[in-house]
Amino acid sequence: MKVIYTDVLIIGGGLAGLRVATGIKERGHDAVVLSLVPPKRSHSAAAQGGMQASLANCKMGEGDNEDVHFSDTIKGSDWGADQEVARMFVHCAPKAIRELAHWGVPWSRVHRGDHAAIINAEKVTITEKDEAHGLITARDFGGTKKWRTCYTSDGTGHSMLFAMDNKAKQEKVEVHERLEAISLIHENGRCYGAVARNLMSGELVAYVSKATTVATGGYGRIYSVSTNAIICQGIGQAIALETGVATLGNMEAIQFHPTAIVPVGILTTEGCRGDGGLLLDKDGYRFMPDYEPDKKELASRDVVSRRMTEHMRKGKGVKSRYGDHLWLDITILGREHIEKNLREVKEICENFLGIDPAVDWIPVRPTQHYSMGGIRTKYTGESQTLKGLYSCGEAACWDMHGFNRLGGNSVSETVVSGMLVSEYISDYLDSDESHLSIHTANVEKFVRIEQEKLDALLSKENGEDAYVLRRAMEEIMMNKVGIFRNGDDLQKAVDELEELHKRSKNIEVFRSKSRAANPALVNAYRTQKMIKVALTVAYGALLRTESRGAHSREDYPERDDANWLKRTITSWPDENQSIPTVSYEEIDISKMELPPGFRGYGKDLTKHHPDTKKREDVVNAIKEKLEEEGGDRFEVQNCLMPYIDKLPKKYRGTNERLGENV
Ligand SMILES: Cc1cc2nc3c(=O)[nH]c(=O)nc-3n(C[C@H](O)[C@H](O)[C@H](O)COP(=O)(O)OP(=O)(O)OC[C@H]3O[C@@H](n4cnc5c(N)ncnc54)[C@H](O)[C@@H]3O)c2cc1C
Repeated sequence: MKVIYTDVLIIGGGLAGLRVATGIKERGHDAVVLSLVPPKRSHSAAAQGGMQASLANCKMGEGDNEDVHFSDTIKGSDWGADQEVARMFVHCAPKAIRELAHWGVPWSRVHRGDHAAIINAEKVTITEKDEAHGLITARDFGGTKKWRTCYTSDGTGHSMLFAMDNKAKQEKVEVHERLEAISLIHENGRCYGAVARNLMSGELVAYVSKATTVATGGYGRIYSVSTNAIICQGIGQAIALETGVATLGNMEAIQFHPTAIVPVGILTTEGCRGDGGLLLDKDGYRFMPDYEPDKKELASRDVVSRRMTEHMRKGKGVKSRYGDHLWLDITILGREHIEKNLREVKEICENFLGIDPAVDWIPVRPTQHYSMGGIRTKYTGESQTLKGLYSCGEAACWDMHGFNRLGGNSVSETVVSGMLVSEYISDYLDSDESHLSIHTANVEKFVRIEQEKLDALLSKENGEDAYVLRRAMEEIMMNKVGIFRNGDDLQKAVDELEELHKRSKNIEVFRSKSRAANPALVNAYRTQKMIKVALTVAYGALLRTESRGAHSREDYPERDDANWLKRTITSWPDENQSIPTVSYEEIDISKMELPPGFRGYGKDLTKHHPDTKKREDVVNAIKEKLEEEGGDRFEVQNCLMPYIDKLPKKYRGTNERLGENV
């Protein structure tokens, strides 16, 4: 048995995983990163539109600060987010973006003087200040009050990941590519690393570590059409679930992005609408202002996706042999703007649709895009229930997105949470608590169990075809656990997935019995895990009898704060269970800086919690008193919901902005 010892095992080489590894190395500890692919090919490279940070450099960002970013994030989350975590995030995002600039990300910059922009379908002139010249600029994005989304053309994730990977190399982070974690090693409530399978040779390797971080990204590929890379299969969430000890949070919170191209589902960034692009129906009519007169195309993503679906249901979609779709019109932006700021979109349109978006409208439809749920953690990134297991990035439910993430807040989360979690892990490594105490015999046991499972798959005869089961799962998720949900469909989805789960115990690997590089074997064990993840989503959605953010129940259209202001917690304590165990974690209104309110879209259908009014009165009284006494916004914030002490000392400093005297 091959055993590799390290201080920290990081499963995942995307933005989040690499940022954790870099921080750990800077603090003088060892880190090994596992990745299915070379890190630069991780899904993070696909991020297009940008990263949110309240720099307030450009004209349309003026007046922005942490308070505005915080309020947008909480409203966007439909009050599902952890407000302390969101505060920590908005405070650190400006630091993270400047750090990335220092590491080589070529952020697009402010140019002094006049430039043209399209706002609400009209050409306007914006004049940038002299003193802002050369600072990082930002574009508009959905659900934000200010232009806050910083970008490098529409290849933001690409440039962030390349800079991050170079930095990791500079810090001599050890990366083991094409090694897949297939189970976590744990004993007595403590995690000690993972069993990984070499995807080339088939060899199993035990990685034994003091701390383990899962940064494996989202689980979009449990749906049949997704903007996610094909490796976003939720294996990180699955191996946490399979410990029976670690828990997952809000798995039913799945985001659909309004503008993926039809039929393949590749994304065209929200930056298209942020820069002035419009949504049109079969008659070329701009319909969003009718539904959302205020934010129009730039309402929150969940809202735009629902409005588009509603509009298509009214017969206003464009018929095609791939089903109905709508149009995204960016011709209005002009060729020069598209070739400079939306060049990936241009290439996607040329290569996958054979059209020129400077001339032609783009066929789009809402498509699965982002996983708000994930491994439930404390604010330190550590699992609430399995010591030594950490998680961050899209893999985690940290939980700053609640039931809907704002565009641009995800790549920002990866680097901010990576930066913070690496500090908390390093503190843990510096303490006696992190001492390794697991017998090699027990490590061997974990490897043996995995070997036996693989052997069983390879020796099975007359079994099930994993490809058939997986396709069935994807269709169930797409058709019954989609943008609009209802009790009947969700019950059917749970029943059908439960049946698939039973059948998945009987999978046979057809085509090749090779133990080494064997895609059929990989698909077999991943399908077993993906079905479990799909069950956590469908079951959580069935039980949540309200609508919140991206979880929209047609049979329960209200956001029901009175009964559902809580996080869904899922576990799988006994491997013989056919569905997961679900419990709930209350979200405490009495500690909220921003008590639950109306998000500002459509009609207010909220069933309020009895404590909301009480908390509003407390918050207003504190604000009035401190403002009378001349307290600044930091003092007010600190009185409402202190969080600064939770941050590592080096990140507590105030952010500076042009014209703001701090
Ligand atoms: C098309 C698209 C565009 C987007 N644009 C934006 C945007 O403009 N702004 C924004 O904020 N967000 C955007 N997002 C979301 C954002 O890109 C992701 O949420 C984010 O990059 C996730 O980063 P991560 O580090 O958590 O995971 P990933 O980048 O997905 O990395 C996961 C890593 O885990 C590894 N891995 C997975 N499973 C295993 C395993 N079992 N064993 C070992 N390694 C494993 C993979 O190899 C990979 O290295 C976009 C998403 C999509 C789909």
